[in-house]
Amino acid sequence: QPTVGVLALQGDVREHQRMLATVGAQSRPVRTPSELDAVDALVLPGGESTTMWRLARTFGLLEPLRRRVADGMPAYGSCAGMIMLADRIEGGVAGQETVGGMDITVRRNAFGRQVDSFETDLDFPAIGAPVEPFHAVFIRAPWVEKVGDGVDVLARVATGDGTGNIVAVRQGRLLATSFHPELTADARVHALFLDIVKEA
Ligand code: GLN
Repeated sequence: QPTVGVLALQGDVREHQRMLATVGAQSRPVRTPSELDAVDALVLPGGESTTMWRLARTFGLLEPLRRRVADGMPAYGSCAGMIMLADRIEGGVAGQETVGGMDITVRRNAFGRQVDSFETDLDFPAIGAPVEPFHAVFIRAPWVEKVGDGVDVLARVATGDGTGNIVAVRQGRLLATSFHPELTADARVHALFLDIVKEA
């Protein structure tokens, strides 16, 4: 039985732990390098990526996180967690760093000030939607501006120009969503992540 850590520097840690329990995964909070060593996979929660980055630096976690991800540890990031997993960010604060690992460019607060938060039903074939659409909650969310060759686009949000902005991606064992499944009752994204963890 794998143990899934939840990066617990800041953000909605408990909500992720509750969802992981729903899909039958053992989880525990991760705040230190030794706690990181003890888990098989990691969830990076929603919250505020600038704060998460500064605390990861302060706690000496940034390099260990980079090493684990580079070594193939499965990881799932929601919202701020997606920003943390991105190799490149736009709209970050001066000097803002990420853990990286995903060959994506993520734009912070992409949906703009007028729409601080919104909810919408998504087509998400990787988890069996549209049969049962995924009700996604977005809060000052990023979107994925560019993806590299090895990245699968899992879901988009319809926008005015008809193309749709990318809001869910997978690259090997790394998964990221712009939205917060941990704030809903739909555990399918966490179930998908647990499948990735078990395959690894
Ligand atoms: N806007 C936040 C950031 O830049 C993310 C918001 C969220 O995680 N709900 O980190």
